[in-house]
Amino acid sequence: MATKEERLKKLFPEDVLRISEDLSEGELTILENLYELLESKYRKDLNTHWSNCTVPEGFFEDMGTLEYKYSPLLYEGREGADTPSLIFQFFFAYTMARFDPSLATLNGVHSGLGFYSFLYGGDDAQKEKYIKKLANHELRTCFALTEPDHGSDVAWGLQTTARREGDKWIINGAKRWIGGANVADVIPVYARDVETGKPKAFIVRRDQPGVEVSVIQNKIALRIVPNCDITLTDVVVEESERLQKINSFKDIARILYTTRAGVSFMATGAIAGALEATLKYVNGRTQFGKKLSQFQLTQQKLAKMKSNLTTAMALCASIVRLQEKGDYNEVATSIGKLNNAEMLREAVALGRSACGGNGIVADYDIARFFADAEAIYTYEGTHEMNSLIVGRSLTGEAAFN
Ligand SMILES: Cc1cc2nc3c(=O)[nH]c(=O)nc-3n(C[C@H](O)[C@H](O)[C@H](O)COP(=O)(O)OP(=O)(O)OC[C@H]3O[C@@H](n4cnc5c(N)ncnc54)[C@H](O)[C@@H]3O)c2cc1C
Repeated sequence: MATKEERLKKLFPEDVLRISEDLSEGELTILENLYELLESKYRKDLNTHWSNCTVPEGFFEDMGTLEYKYSPLLYEGREGADTPSLIFQFFFAYTMARFDPSLATLNGVHSGLGFYSFLYGGDDAQKEKYIKKLANHELRTCFALTEPDHGSDVAWGLQTTARREGDKWIINGAKRWIGGANVADVIPVYARDVETGKPKAFIVRRDQPGVEVSVIQNKIALRIVPNCDITLTDVVVEESERLQKINSFKDIARILYTTRAGVSFMATGAIAGALEATLKYVNGRTQFGKKLSQFQLTQQKLAKMKSNLTTAMALCASIVRLQEKGDYNEVATSIGKLNNAEMLREAVALGRSACGGNGIVADYDIARFFADAEAIYTYEGTHEMNSLIVGRSLTGEAAFN
């Protein structure tokens, strides 16, 4: 039987700061199961799925078998907790993105933005109805906030409308970029109440009348993720299917601040994946009679990638420590997202160049990370929006418009 130290060394050999030591044995078991599942079932055809924009069959169901939300192994010594520890959440997102940022994003939108819409937004009856089924993947969800004409400024410009008629609401509008909407059972759609002007969230079924979903074509990043346009025409939702605790942008922001840290975790995992892919390539190719890995200039690139990875991991660990204390400080979260996405962008460019021409061919893993970094840089608050949040905290001046 391997010791915890040996298991950690095997699963996270790159973790020089030994941050993963904070994981419990039970948490480590779930992460080992995740790693095993990804490597044994999905490694072989991963680049083909990425090139062809297809989701591996059974992926969502397989993820459900991991019990990564409510396995008793995640709650040993954590009585009363209703979500897994943040250190586990960090390494879960990290391990997924180290393997593939598309699969990490696809699962992340269900288990993060979507799931928290229900967990934070639902009243007791709605949580009773949905949370368990979402957690074990019996039901699939996503998160429908962004619109064709409002991305960064959606809080200010949300155009999708909700009009109340007795016990029903009538929803009209359009959404863009919604990850996994084409396969979701329940879609939390964010819309503005025409009477009060305030945002609300409605549980819309993908197959109900008035809902049309189409997949955005020709993306150059996160190609496995089906990002969707949705149009909503006189869609009827019962008041009982309106998420009762979402009544302002502050309520939506609570969800976004929780999951934004998750993006910094994913960005960090993607750096680790890019480094792994680069090392594999430079150890396997010879030029001028030497392995690429033996050149000083190649080693400089690898060292910079490793230093970005280590810095990004340290920042994640600090955010985890803060959030474990209940402090969801928006400045810290924004710095985590903007810094780690920037470190990722730099690291994938170095890795890509270290792999030469094959670095732009999808058969070699680094190309996937190189392209996917662009999406991570933009989604869940662009680099600029997060910079403006930090800038506001420094100057007291909001420079959004
Ligand atoms: C792969 C992917 C997946 C996504 N998944 C989802 C999802 O599941 N659900 C969902 O609701 N949304 C999703 N999004 C949407 C995402 O959150 C938006 O793309 C993001 O908010 C930016 O909006 P935009 O693309 O419309 O860019 P815009 O807002 O049009 O911005 C374009 C550029 O202008 C900059 N900019 C805008 N305003 C300012 C300003 N005031 N000052 C300085 N610069 C500014 C931006 O930073 C950006 O660089 C996803 C996006 C991507 C790319």
